[in-house]
Amino acid sequence: MIVVLDRDIARADIDRLTEDLGAAGLSAKLSGNGDPWMLVAAEQVPGRVRQWVRELPGVSRVVDVPGKFRLSSRDFQPESSTVTLDNGLTIGGTGFVVAAGPCAVESAELLSATADSVRAAGAEVLRGGAYKPRTSPYSFQGLGPAGADLLDQERKRSGLPVVTEVVDPGDVELLADRADMLQVGTRNMQNFALLSEVGRSGKPVLLKRGFAATIEEWLFAAEYVLSTGNTQVVLCERGIRSYDPSTRFTLDVSAVPVVKALSHLPVIIDPSHSSGRRDLVKPLALAAAAVGADGLLVDVHPESAAALCDGDQALSPEEFTDLMASLRRVLAAVDRTLARPCEPLRAREA
Ligand code: PEP
Ligand code: MN
Repeated sequence: MIVVLDRDIARADIDRLTEDLGAAGLSAKLSGNGDPWMLVAAEQVPGRVRQWVRELPGVSRVVDVPGKFRLSSRDFQPESSTVTLDNGLTIGGTGFVVAAGPCAVESAELLSATADSVRAAGAEVLRGGAYKPRTSPYSFQGLGPAGADLLDQERKRSGLPVVTEVVDPGDVELLADRADMLQVGTRNMQNFALLSEVGRSGKPVLLKRGFAATIEEWLFAAEYVLSTGNTQVVLCERGIRSYDPSTRFTLDVSAVPVVKALSHLPVIIDPSHSSGRRDLVKPLALAAAAVGADGLLVDVHPESAAALCDGDQALSPEEFTDLMASLRRVLAAVDRTLARPCEPLRAREA
């Protein structure tokens, strides 16, 4: 049960309602950001209790949500949600959005060259990590704040919105000022402090599936962000750990229709981190379009042999251009198209 409260409700009235629900044996979590506030009950609530709650002062409406999920559930919101970046680009809905770029921000020159090539091929978002969560402490850890500044410069120069990973709740503010979308990576999917902090930033969030996480755990992670009142959440399937070492991870394409049946949130696919192999990126990207995903996150690097991170899975600009040409044909076959080009960020800032 989700209790949507009146928009002008006073804090004391929210406390009173919470106490009333508590006295009736319901533990309700205050969610949202006042626009509106919501009380989300953990338990399933019998119809007669819902009717009683509906009549309490300060309650605007009560939504019965029969499954496990609450704010991410299609029972709460039957229509698919869309996430809109600052330049007006919409993720979810009709258009298919491609985010592409280097795994890590390495230099201004590399970032600009990659941005220009992926944009020319039809990408609408630039990806790149300033903070890299690396398995080995001896691997390149990213340029940190200097990398974040390069992303900010590049989005202003190229006009492409930027998605970048945040690994520490303390860096959310810095990255929220320098990027258009904050990525929570596979290794942090259950970092609940981080999920709440990116939620509170109000920025669009790209939430990757933990490589050992069930779909249920992934959606509950999304609920942490949604509970803060931030509805701008996009899910990203990036492969799960299986027994076969032929690929780095196993892309779970079935996750897309499974999640879409349960949840209204957009879902994109990362064929690069799932396979870890350049030769598999194109076929998996085409599968994403056919299976109903809302977009892609793809590693592209102009000199993959010299890449500081994940060079084995990076496409060259030429390979990415070829992928985009095939992608357009697969999208057309399923009556879809790439998202329409958006106004550059810098034009909106002027
Ligand atoms: C990435 O996208 O750069 C990344 C580290 O991905 P993942 O969290 O899926 O490994
Ligand atoms: Mn990577």
